[in-house]
Amino acid sequence: MPDEIDRAQVFNEQCLDAMITRSRLRPASAPSLYFCQFCYLAIPDERRHALPGVTTCARCQLILERRANQ
Ligand SMILES: [Zn+2]
Repeated sequence: MPDEIDRAQVFNEQCLDAMITRSRLRPASAPSLYFCQFCYLAIPDERRHALPGVTTCARCQLILERRANQ
């Protein structure tokens, strides 16, 4: 049903906006997280060490960056 799809897309847009807001509010000096704050998957140790204060997995980071550049 097209109506249902439209509603789902609106919901996703709102989720992404909330994600971006949350990531901007987080202080840069915060310690790296063990789990992505968005999808809750484990963040690999290499990524945590390479990016101090990292809060997202590579996949979510990519989504956020694409979104921020729009
Ligand atoms: Zn993630």
